[in-house]
Order: sequence, then C-alpha cells, then structure tokens
Amino acid sequence: MHILVIEDNNDIAANIGDFLVDKGHTVDFAGDGATGMHLATTDNFDVIVLDLGLPGMDGLEVCQRLRQEARQQTPVLMLTARDTLDDKLTGFDSGADDYMVKPFALQELAARLEVLGRRGKGNKGRLLQLADLSFDLDSLMISRGGKLIQLNPIGMKLLQALMEAAPSVVTRQELEMCVWGETLPDSDSLRVHIHGLRNVIDKPFDKPLIQTRHGIGYHMVDPDALPP
Ligand code: CA
Repeated sequence: MHILVIEDNNDIAANIGDFLVDKGHTVDFAGDGATGMHLATTDNFDVIVLDLGLPGMDGLEVCQRLRQEARQQTPVLMLTARDTLDDKLTGFDSGADDYMVKPFALQELAARLEVLGRRGKGNKGRLLQLADLSFDLDSLMISRGGKLIQLNPIGMKLLQALMEAAPSVVTRQELEMCVWGETLPDSDSLRVHIHGLRNVIDKPFDKPLIQTRHGIGYHMVDPDALPP
C-alpha cells in the first residue's frame, strides 16, 4: 500500500515509517497539516495516518478539508493522545475512519491500516449497483441497461438511500428524513417522488426494481436474485 503519514513528531513518524516499510509498504511523510493536505490531494494514497495535534492546521481540520473541499475519500486513521480522547467522536465527525490512542502497538496500527486500505479500495468510484442499474456516487451518473438516466436531486437522494439499503426495506419516515429532514413539504410528497422515480427507473424496462411494502415503505430488489 502507499501510505501517507502526517505527524509532526519525528520520532513517532520514523517509528511508524520503518515498521510499515518493513511490512512492504511505501510511505511518504508530512510534518504539518498544510503539507499533508498538499500531498494527499496531489498524490494517490491507499490510506492516511493523521496525527490530531499538528502545528498550524490540526488533524481535524485536515480531515474535514480533505473530505469537504478536496472531495477525497482516502481512508484516514487518526492518532490522538490519551488526554484528547474525548476528541475521538469529533474525529469521526470530521470524516476519520478509525483512530488510535498514543502510545499504540505498531503491529496493531499496521493491521488496522490493512483493513482500511481494503475498505478504501472497495469504495473507489463509489458505485452502487443493483441488477442492470448502476449509480456512480462521484460522477452522479445513473444508467440502466446501458441507457443513461436523468434524475432530479430528490430522485437521486431517494435512489441512493434505496440502493444502499437494498434489498432491505427503507421506511417512509427514513426516506422523508433523508430527503427533507424535519421539514416535510407535504404528506404526499414522498409518494409523488417515488412515482416519478419509478417512471424513469422502472417503467421503460421489463423488470421493476422498486417494490412497495404497503404501510411500511419501499425497497429495491433484483428480481433475478430472489429465491424461487
Ligand atoms: Ca503531534
């Protein structure tokens, strides 16, 4: 794996680096947040080790900006001192995928990075697929049976929620929360938008994917994947 270590303590950075290189990984280093951001956005890493306490831009800000401004989904493992353990929840809010409290065992760090790296690979492109329908969450390109499908933003949110949950049922309340939050425009809105979604996703095709569970909600199922 290609790993970026953003850590201002040279001894810790060198320890981590030596261990990971011994394990066969390629490691790049940054000693502050700004350099780390720069490397993370200009090079391709499988996973990033990010110290929380950094001079200038701290680890939380680096992580937030990576996710929000640079739209980077590279998995991040945050390192934090024990006295800032409370920050761990904030760390997850900032978009970190895992955290470890210093001092930590290098063996465990390496194992966790392996897991994150694999997960990151699986997410690359963030493509949702169900039967012949695919939804690329990065490019927002939706196609079914090789044909491109146009959806409005509400339709996209509904489709994403349903495809991510598939084949599980998503309740009406969950879908409403996901699209409108607490301020539902009108009690019939969801039904209307699901109807619109069906018109483009299902109607032109042989097999409907969106199923209604009356009184509960909706789910998407690949009809060919159903047990007979
Ligand atoms: Ca530090």
